[in-house]
Amino acid sequence: MTTSTYPMNKAQLVERRNLAKLAMELAQKQYLELTAIGPSCANCENFIGRRGGGGKCSKWDAEPPDDVKEVGCDEWSHDGIPF
Ligand code: SF4
Repeated sequence: MTTSTYPMNKAQLVERRNLAKLAMELAQKQYLELTAIGPSCANCENFIGRRGGGGKCSKWDAEPPDDVKEVGCDEWSHDGIPF
């Protein structure tokens, strides 16, 4: 079911404008947060790092090749923790 925006009175115009602005600000904040994440093995929850380099992927039970480490694979998964 869809509801029409029109007709509306002045109070409704202000309310809808404020809600649209809030939704836009929230979407922009989320967009910036999402674009700040660059997928790689280093920030994948499946990666088990080692001091001094190396590391292993628990998903594939192997050390990912360097080109995959750089951008992550299709199974990349982020837990939201920034380290
Ligand atoms: S190979 Fe894929 S699943 Fe494994 S750590 Fe890298 S991005 Fe994550």
